[in-house]
Amino acid sequence: MEMYTPEVLISEEEIALRISELGRAITNDYENEELVVICVLKGAFMFCSDLIKKINRPVRLEFISLSSYGDGTNSSGNVRLEMDITANIEGKHVLVIEDIVDTGLTIKTLLNMLALRKPSSVKLASLLFKPAKLKHRVDINYLGFEIEDKFVIGFGLDYAGRYRELPYIGVLNAGN
Ligand code: 5GP
Repeated sequence: MEMYTPEVLISEEEIALRISELGRAITNDYENEELVVICVLKGAFMFCSDLIKKINRPVRLEFISLSSYGDGTNSSGNVRLEMDITANIEGKHVLVIEDIVDTGLTIKTLLNMLALRKPSSVKLASLLFKPAKLKHRVDINYLGFEIEDKFVIGFGLDYAGRYRELPYIGVLNAGN
């Protein structure tokens, strides 16, 4: 398989610095409360793993998997639950960790679904936000970076299942 090096949009160092800041903010906001962290697979796995190391509070880690994109770069417009969390979140403080908010459909669907389970609070951390195509208003409590309307890969984000392992956020260049 040929090697392809995407253009760097956000470097490894910038990401690490921002994640430390977000971790400090989360630590301050939750005092000594236990947090149920819900990592939205697969894209948020790297962000989640780095972020929880910077949260100095008791954390219970859960995973959920949703799909809205197929193998291309455009949203399919509907969201499917592929794998649910195992914990009961009733009465718990929940922090959802997402990779990117684009149209907002995925996260809005997830937040609505979680609200039905009566958690005591739900907040959202997202590594990236692309305001250009936002259709569903969502409050991102902890945002890494706002970016332009470009298809990005790396640091957990894929294109057709590839590039998740890149330590930085890159731009997929259609010419390559
Ligand atoms: P939304 O439902 O907000 O339109 O899309 C959210 C999901 O679409 C994200 O969780 C992510 O999986 C995918 N997505 C949106 N924009 C991008 C992008 O620029 N790059 C990658 N790799 N995935 C994206």
